[in-house]
Amino acid sequence: MGEQTLVLIKPDGLKKSLTGNVLTRLSETKLDIIGAKMVQVSRELAEEHYGHLKDKPFFEELIKYITGEYHKKKVMALVYWGEGAIKKVRDICGSTNPEEAEPVSIRGAYGRITTAGVFENVIHASENTADAEREIKLWFEPDEIIVDIYPAAEVEETKKKRRWA
Ligand code: UDP
Ligand code: MG
Repeated sequence: MGEQTLVLIKPDGLKKSLTGNVLTRLSETKLDIIGAKMVQVSRELAEEHYGHLKDKPFFEELIKYITGEYHKKKVMALVYWGEGAIKKVRDICGSTNPEEAEPVSIRGAYGRITTAGVFENVIHASENTADAEREIKLWFEPDEIIVDIYPAAEVEETKKKRRWA
């Protein structure tokens, strides 16, 4: 059965020019990319994304890391889709702690632990289907994904929107 997973190339990955390397590694999975964009991560988005880690001692540093305080203020967000997508992507990412991750994994090859104790591990990938759904809906609008993976409704909105001038 097809499933989807959220991938983020974190600010350290972008600062280190690792976008190509990461995408090449992920292409080994033969999964489809069904959404992709660059995002400047607000504190609000960061806190929502990592809400489950709010009580951890490294939370504040983690928020600074993902919002780009230490690198570039951008993240590349992607949705990968296909059979076993969550596990396939997590396997190539490697363990959360880059020092414990397989040396050939993305995190093992390119990650580091900062002196402040944050795991700068280059990439985020959803851990399970519930997280994937929560995270994809947080980072993407329905029309930014080219496959209908979750039900969506048409809503009348009068909100102001920027258009090309
Ligand atoms: N993290 C950290 N120290 C820890 C655990 C996590 O700096 O002891 C950071 C790391 O960047 C990690 C993120 O917090 O990727 C989210 O943690 P989680 O436990 O969800 O790990 P992941 O799912 O990213 O492997
Ligand atoms: Mg996680």
